[in-house]
Amino acid sequence: MSNDQFGRNIDYLRISVTDRCNYRCRYCMPEEGIKLLAHDKMLTFEDIEFFVKIAAEHGIKNIRLTGGEPLVRPKFPDLVAKIRAIDGIEDISITTNGALLPKFAPALKEAGLNRVNISLDTLDEETFHYITRCGHLSEALASIDTAIEYGFTPVKINTVVVRSLKQNLIDYAKLAVDRPLSIRFIEYMPVGDSAGFEGDGWTLDDTIPSAELIEQIRKEGKEAGLGELVALEKGAVYGHGPASYYKFENSVGTIGFINALSNHFCSSCNRLRLTSEGALRPCLFSDHEYDLREAIRARDVEKTTEGFMQALKTKPQSHQDRVGTNRMMSQIGG
Ligand code: SAM
Ligand code: SF4
Ligand code: SF4
Repeated sequence: MSNDQFGRNIDYLRISVTDRCNYRCRYCMPEEGIKLLAHDKMLTFEDIEFFVKIAAEHGIKNIRLTGGEPLVRPKFPDLVAKIRAIDGIEDISITTNGALLPKFAPALKEAGLNRVNISLDTLDEETFHYITRCGHLSEALASIDTAIEYGFTPVKINTVVVRSLKQNLIDYAKLAVDRPLSIRFIEYMPVGDSAGFEGDGWTLDDTIPSAELIEQIRKEGKEAGLGELVALEKGAVYGHGPASYYKFENSVGTIGFINALSNHFCSSCNRLRLTSEGALRPCLFSDHEYDLREAIRARDVEKTTEGFMQALKTKPQSHQDRVGTNRMMSQIGG
C-alpha cells in the first residue's frame, strides 16, 4: 500500500495506450485530429508491462486502459493478457467508445479483462454523429449489448453533459430500467484550453453542476413513472472512481454523478496517469509530469521506481481551481 503525502492511498493507474482514435468528439479533439505521436515514441506493450510490474510492487492494484481509443491499438488484447499475469493486479478495465467492442470482446474476455466503460453522450442518431463527427449510434448501442453478453460487469455508460447540447438525459435512465447498467453523468470539463481548444465553442457555462442535474433527473424520473431517486451507499456499485450513485425505485440499473468540476474529488483521489509516451502525471489538471520513457525503455528498475515514487509524493492536494491542461483529453486518457 502506498500513501501520498496527504494520506491518500494510491492504488489506481490509468494508462493511455494510444493517442489515436476512430472518432473526433468535439469536446476531446479538433476535427483534423491532433498531431500524433510517432510510433517509436509510444510505449510498447513490454514497456507498459515493465512499468505496471513496478507500480504493482508499490501499491497499484487497479488498472484502467484508455486513450485515444484503446481498441484501435493493434493487438490490444495482448496487452490485457500481459497485465493480467502481473502479481498484485486485481481489476483491469477499459474506457472505450465501443465501436470495435463487438469485434474484440471474445479476445478481451479470454485475455482477462474485467470491466468496460462505454462513452455515449446522446441517444439521438443525428446528435451522436454531430458530437463524434464520424460515429454511429448503432455502434455504441451494439457495444452495450456485447458488454452485457460477455459479462464485463458492471457495465458503465459515461455521458458527458454539456448544457448547450440539450441532451435528453432521462432517456438514459430509461435504458437502465430493466438492464444492469450504470449510467454516469459527467460534468463537461473545458480541458485542453491552454492549447487553444474548447470543445465546440463550449465554455464553463456549459458545465451543469451535478447538484443541479440530480434535481433535474429526480423530477423528470418521477414524471416518467420511474419512482423516487434514492441515494445508494458508497461501494454499492463496484469501481474505484469518485461517482456518487443513485437508483430509481423501479429500475434495475443505477445512475451515477461525477462532479468533475463543481466539487472535485481531490480529497479521495486514488490515481496516477501514464500517457502513451511514458509521462507519469500526478494530477489530471496539472501539467507537471515525469518523463519516464527512457528509464522504462532501459528497463532501469531504480530510475523507474524513483520516478513513480516522486509522482506519488508530489501529487497535489487539489487542483486549485485550474481546470485546463496543455494536453487534450485524448492524450491524457480522461
Ligand atoms: N476513446 C475512449 C472513450 O471515448 O471512451 C477513451 C478515451 S476518452 C478521452 C475517456 C473519457 O474522457 C470519455 O468518457 C470521454 O467522454 C471523456 N472526456 C473527453 N473529453 C472530455 C471533456 N472535455 N470533459 C469531460 N469528459 C471528457
Ligand atoms: Fe476518441 Fe474518446 Fe476522445 Fe471521443 S472522447 S475523440 S472517442 S478519445
Ligand atoms: Fe485527483 Fe488532481 Fe483530479 Fe484532484 S484534480 S481528483 S488531485 S486528479
